[in-house]
Amino acid sequence: MRILLLEDDLQLASGLKQSLQSEHYALDHFDQVKSALSATTQEHYDLVILDLGLPDADGFTFLQGFRKHHTSPVLILTARDGIEDKIKGLDLGADDYLAKPFDINELQARIRALLRRSGGRASNVMTYEGVEVDQQARTVMYEGKPVNLARREFNLLEVLLQNEGKVMSRVSLEQTLYSWDDDIESNALEVHIHNLRKKLFSKLISTVRGVGYMVPKV
Ligand code: CA
Repeated sequence: MRILLLEDDLQLASGLKQSLQSEHYALDHFDQVKSALSATTQEHYDLVILDLGLPDADGFTFLQGFRKHHTSPVLILTARDGIEDKIKGLDLGADDYLAKPFDINELQARIRALLRRSGGRASNVMTYEGVEVDQQARTVMYEGKPVNLARREFNLLEVLLQNEGKVMSRVSLEQTLYSWDDDIESNALEVHIHNLRKKLFSKLISTVRGVGYMVPKV
């Protein structure tokens, strides 16, 4: 899962980055509305964490721009805890609101809840044709037996299942797997797809020629 963090408090941002990466999210951090909005035209983000007070514009400006093209959940994280800001944020399309200072465990739980909801699920366990993925424990079972997946294989399976029935482009899958600061080997995605088909079952992931991959809708 790939998260965009828009936050101008660099110390907070670096703490969040560390703690979210340790939960295996890929995270891109921006401290200005303009650069963050521009990134969303090129990258797919599964979730946005949004500060309101930013140097070049306020977070509401980002939210309005983002909502014109994207439905991914947005969580507002801000020291402003006035009721007007909450209402305005939610009305502009934010999905949740957490006031600073906050507990990192609460933030993590809210992120999981938002991602579940956007994937249309009520629990942390995704199931698909005998495959069971526990997103919190990060374990996978196939036909009742545990399967060992490498970190990126797990992340790839998670995003494909989250988007069941939708074709995911190679570019967006690569972006999900790698942060901007990672090097991507050119055939890495194919290798991970091959491993998932081998470790689980071959028809789990369809190749959509010239576009990318998908988990077919069942
Ligand atoms: Ca701020």
